[in-house]
Amino acid sequence: MALGGLPVAVAVAALVLGLLVLPASGHTLTDRCPRGGAAAECGGAPRSVGGEDPGPVARLYGSEVRRIPTSSPLVALTFNAAWDETGVETALTVLRGRNVPATFFLTGRFAERHSGAARLMAAEHGIGNHSYSHPQFADLTRPEAEQEIMGADRAIRRATGAVPLPFFRFPYSATTPEGIAHANELGFADIEFTTDTNGYLGTAGGMTVQKVVDRVVNALTPGAIVQMHVGTAQGRGPALDVQALPRIIDAIHAHGYRITDLRTVLE
Ligand SMILES: [Zn+2]
Repeated sequence: MALGGLPVAVAVAALVLGLLVLPASGHTLTDRCPRGGAAAECGGAPRSVGGEDPGPVARLYGSEVRRIPTSSPLVALTFNAAWDETGVETALTVLRGRNVPATFFLTGRFAERHSGAARLMAAEHGIGNHSYSHPQFADLTRPEAEQEIMGADRAIRRATGAVPLPFFRFPYSATTPEGIAHANELGFADIEFTTDTNGYLGTAGGMTVQKVVDRVVNALTPGAIVQMHVGTAQGRGPALDVQALPRIIDAIHAHGYRITDLRTVLE
């Protein structure tokens, strides 16, 4: 491991970064640590199998979660980040301006390529796991699936300095009972969505801001989870979800719904 004076320099840099990043985020590691969460930093191994009580997250085990279990008029906003980072700063500015929480599901590869954007998201909102490289999980062996989930977990921690939530979202929402059980064994609840806005299709894919807003309004139900994307698949124009975000938030409120933080399911 030793490379002359380099490790010392790296250690000092890491320490300085840690000092800068963590207090600035307004969160300590402790308050980002759901009891029995996926976090090794939370004082335990990420696995829940054969171990201690996994805590509140275990209430969400056993099936995919497409709605927050509630009868109240609550909605959760989520963004996936797997492609480009174009919409990140605008999305964060809109959310901050309206004092609205969201959860960002990052791929490990996104966290590595866009670590600055990943840090910004983690500083203000909960971060979930969207696999390392966004594969079709049905094509993976069990060890490969584990590598995808835990590799993303490590990459997100390295990039953000934050502890991710014990939430996993399958690429393409391609869930199977076996896949969900495996994610649960690794300490993650499978958080999917009630509706995707389809904003990621972009105008080239026939979507508009109005259609994006309409898809959210049509899906309003207690506990609805809305899936959006901070970017678009390459070459498909601007990040429609981010353009639509102010109107989405206003429309949700106008229909008597409150936007809640997904982290509340861990309380
Ligand atoms: Zn995805």
